Amino acid sequence: MKHIRNFCIIAHIDHGKSTLADRLIQACEGISQREFHDQMLDSMDIERERGITIKSNTVTLTYHSKSGEDYLLNLIDTPGHVDFSHEVRRSLMACDGALIIVDASQGVEAQTVANLYLALEYDLELLPVINKIDLPAADVEMAREAIDGELGLDPFQAIPVSAKTGEGIHEVLEGIVEHLPPPSGDPTAPLKALVFDAYFDKYRGVILQVRIMQGTVKPRDNIRFMHAERDYKVDELGFNQFKLNPKDKLTAGEVGYIVAGVKSVQDIEIGDTLTLVNRPADAPIPGYQPAKQVVFSSVYPMSTDEYQDLTKALEKLAINDAALTYEKDSSAALGFGFRCGFLGLLHLDVIQERLEREFDLGLVISAPSVKYILTLKDGTTLNVDNPTNWPDPSTIDSASEPYIKASILTPDEYVGSVMELCREHRSESQTMNYLSAGRVEVVSEMPLGEVLFDFYGKLKMITRGYGSFDYEPIEYRKTDIVKVDILVNKEPIDALSYLVHRDKARTRALHYCEQLAEAIPRHQFKIPIQGAIGGSVIARSTIQAVRKDVTAKCYGGDISRKKKLLEKQKKGKAKMKQFGSVTIPQKAFVSVLQTS
Ligand code: GDP
Ligand code: MG
Repeated sequence: MKHIRNFCIIAHIDHGKSTLADRLIQACEGISQREFHDQMLDSMDIERERGITIKSNTVTLTYHSKSGEDYLLNLIDTPGHVDFSHEVRRSLMACDGALIIVDASQGVEAQTVANLYLALEYDLELLPVINKIDLPAADVEMAREAIDGELGLDPFQAIPVSAKTGEGIHEVLEGIVEHLPPPSGDPTAPLKALVFDAYFDKYRGVILQVRIMQGTVKPRDNIRFMHAERDYKVDELGFNQFKLNPKDKLTAGEVGYIVAGVKSVQDIEIGDTLTLVNRPADAPIPGYQPAKQVVFSSVYPMSTDEYQDLTKALEKLAINDAALTYEKDSSAALGFGFRCGFLGLLHLDVIQERLEREFDLGLVISAPSVKYILTLKDGTTLNVDNPTNWPDPSTIDSASEPYIKASILTPDEYVGSVMELCREHRSESQTMNYLSAGRVEVVSEMPLGEVLFDFYGKLKMITRGYGSFDYEPIEYRKTDIVKVDILVNKEPIDALSYLVHRDKARTRALHYCEQLAEAIPRHQFKIPIQGAIGGSVIARSTIQAVRKDVTAKCYGGDISRKKKLLEKQKKGKAKMKQFGSVTIPQKAFVSVLQTS
């Protein structure tokens, strides 16, 4: 066991976690040069394209150290985005140590700090790594000062590297072996295995990723998920070495995979503890937290005959994403669809993109909402995350909404604008911490619902890309929420309704009206667009009438050209939706509902 290291890499997004992982894999010859590609651990297309890690991945590497001994290094990649912090937690629970990356040109950022706190919560030993030293703007001394002052870690231990060129990689590997502790745990005790991840394989079913905390598990053992109280039989287990590499057992301290006939990740809870049915552990591993959906949105197919396809696509995605929830929903305007729950806006984005791209679906997605808790005058409590379910306002006694503690790191010259942005988004308190020369953390308590709309993009803009943002949910607080309807030609388009604080209702309604007026093509009559609370209109815009004849240009002569044009127009209509006498293109919904 003293020759095992279980560790992860934590960093702010873009500081080079995936690239460093690639270099470590290559340095340990975890995979042949022929099979290697960049961002080895980022398996989804979207992850590679956007350069973000969404799902964590694990790999077991063999490192031949300077002292001549072989080590098994279990590298657990963690997602960097705040939406996925529950996954970060689970990964951390499987580790004994972590590399914490600081970008030599950027210094410490919001997620570096947030992840550091998490790592400390789980008692991980930390080894700082200063990355991107090849950049002309790299300032290793500044990074050391930040590691000392902002992270409170030993700056002299920090290892300068370039994940790009590979410089310093062997020092990192030696550092891992030297400074990160080996796992502990009794291999003869009753089994406790942490399920820290799982993914679906279409041939094998669910592949569980586990860290054995104590005990030993073998093929054909009957295992039990302690929280879910479900039993399975182990078909196969082993190490993740870019392919599943079967072993005859997994024992205390080891990290590996288990295949046990689990059909869908929705059947189990990630974070659960596995034990043996005939010799169970007395209690599961503490610290278990189920994934929490905080953002809700309805997803409709653009054309109603795609409903079955959407159903199948969601089923497929959910099989591999335990954090995605969905249930049937229907809209007067858009027909049948699904109400989905997400971990945050990025999660929503990713699911939307996968539905559109991998399943080729045209979608309309309603404005994302948080979950409000209402107390009605008759004393009952109601949870509402869908504007459709908003009750008659006269029956509401009080409402409350979820608040977050947002932590924003910014160069000090932008502090004023950041504070103003927070206030515009109903921040209730803002405090400032000076981290080091020129860098400030703004801590703000604000409604989660406020960061869902027009916040992140603005933050990036006013800080010229240097601002970074992280948050944690804190509590529900009293609020004054109204439901706003959007009417096109006097018809409410229910998918465009939204719940919002009374003070923000008009600004957002105006935004919607203007966006719609731009995105809906002119018709042969005038179209009023209105935002309304109950019966009273709070915002409006108008689309002027026009007589549009696409064939007019053809001088009546060229029939084939005329036909082509008409066909083109018809095709364009495939992505249009008819509302009464008004045709709304899909891109109108997309541009209106764009949130960041
Ligand atoms: P992650 O979000 O932390 O996983 O970061 P990535 O590994 O995806 O890296 C973010 C960006 O920084 C990519 O464009 C990398 O090519 C680049 N990058 C990573 N490490 C280095 C480095 O050592 N030097 C330079 N110049 N660029 C790097
Ligand atoms: Mg990455």
